[in-house]
Amino acid sequence: MKGQTRREFLRSVSYTAGSAAALSILSGGNTLGQTSGKKRPNIIFIMTDDHASHALSCYGSKINKTPNLDRIANEGMRFDNSFCTNSICAPCRAVILTGKYSHLNGITDNRKKFDGSQQTFPKLLQKAGYKTAMIGKWHLKTDPTGFDYWNVLPGQGAYYNPAMKEMGRQRKYTGYTTDIITDHALKWLKSLKPGEPFCLMYQHKAPHRRWEPGPKHLTMYDDVTIAEPDNLFDDYSNRGRAAKEQDMSISRTMTENDLKLTPARKNLTPEQKRLWDAAYGPKNEAFKKANLQGKELVRWKYQRYIKDYLRCIASVDDNVGRVLDYLDESGLAENTVVFYTSDQGFYLGDHGWFDKRFMYEESLRMPLMVRYPKKIKAGSVSDEIVLNLDFGPTFLDFAGVPVPADMQGKSIGRILQGSTPADWRKSMYYHYYEYPGAHSVKKHYGVRTRRYKLIHFYHDIDEWELYDLAKDPREMKDIYGDASYADIVKELKTELKRLRRKYKDTTDSPV
Ligand code: CA
Repeated sequence: MKGQTRREFLRSVSYTAGSAAALSILSGGNTLGQTSGKKRPNIIFIMTDDHASHALSCYGSKINKTPNLDRIANEGMRFDNSFCTNSICAPCRAVILTGKYSHLNGITDNRKKFDGSQQTFPKLLQKAGYKTAMIGKWHLKTDPTGFDYWNVLPGQGAYYNPAMKEMGRQRKYTGYTTDIITDHALKWLKSLKPGEPFCLMYQHKAPHRRWEPGPKHLTMYDDVTIAEPDNLFDDYSNRGRAAKEQDMSISRTMTENDLKLTPARKNLTPEQKRLWDAAYGPKNEAFKKANLQGKELVRWKYQRYIKDYLRCIASVDDNVGRVLDYLDESGLAENTVVFYTSDQGFYLGDHGWFDKRFMYEESLRMPLMVRYPKKIKAGSVSDEIVLNLDFGPTFLDFAGVPVPADMQGKSIGRILQGSTPADWRKSMYYHYYEYPGAHSVKKHYGVRTRRYKLIHFYHDIDEWELYDLAKDPREMKDIYGDASYADIVKELKTELKRLRRKYKDTTDSPV
């Protein structure tokens, strides 16, 4: 170790060993987490629901600004190729908790109940002496397990005046849910004894459908027109049946309730209702008078949808700012890892859609920013392929807890420190199951490399699609049948087969 710091030495050993097993042993030997006699890092995992990375200014959003969320990227690392393995709410959450794909953790779709008796990373952190808490949107149908404290929205939860279930007891709160979840998170952080390592899962309902803005942001963006995506009027030519037969388009699927053309919800307080009516009433009157048709109607719907979506995000941004400020004021910032992500991406009018589910880019991508001043260089960016599958192993790595062999993800710890393991994945595996079901997105699985994406839609369909993301990043032309890509298809099918075997996915049709 002559001339080397301990960290450099560990890095070089891990690089040489080049295996996940060696990495987790070294993590136990403290590459990221505790060094003997020093405090283990705290972890704050911030997750929103349906926040697409193209609605974050640190990802170059053309439609909004997120100054507080950007702080996490500016003071830490931003990941440009962070993907989920099954782009829908409950399944993604179960993957994060267990570090295992949907077919192994049991939550293949939103209708299943999570088996809380299985191994999860919060349980392992708790066993290792961490204080653990889960506050906000849980969405797994059974009560949270592995937490010293939990206070969660039942099911989807309400945007205003929510009921919350605190350690099994339900209570109602008055106010806007994004603020209330943050109040609870801050209260819990303030209740901790100094020096006690903790892991807080701080999870928002926003900006999930039906995108109800808070009182502070109801008229934000009233005076501007938000840019439209270039494929808002996609007609799905050059694509297969799956894109044509979905039910998630702004033009056909979005309801009057989504568009706030129906009266305000009954559970609002008189003051909340007054603000709501003042914001939507005059705009709705003008809309009715205009009698829009065809493309103009779609354009109006897009504006109403995207503004409400972005208003919900503005509130998240404010509230995350409150938490970051508290970490600064309390002196916790230096020793606290802050993760920001969302349970999947979302279509912001891209392909004419809202919602998620497809393996296409906008919903496959998850925003991911991580700040930990001690080990992560400020303003760094990684384009390595990382997955929600990796989050649990990463938290364990931070805590110096060995990653169990049956977790299928890998710690991104070395990437965060600027050195990617030699054997890091070059491709990722995806599988979506919820069909028949809401939004009619057909079952599919696939593989994505840095350049290509191969998808197999199955069940009541048997169609393959191939995209060359270098030439066609918006995925407007399926080139599966193009003879000049025959070798690529062959390679990708081999890779897909390898990944299905590796992750033990024998569900449904073989490749
Ligand atoms: Ca979601």
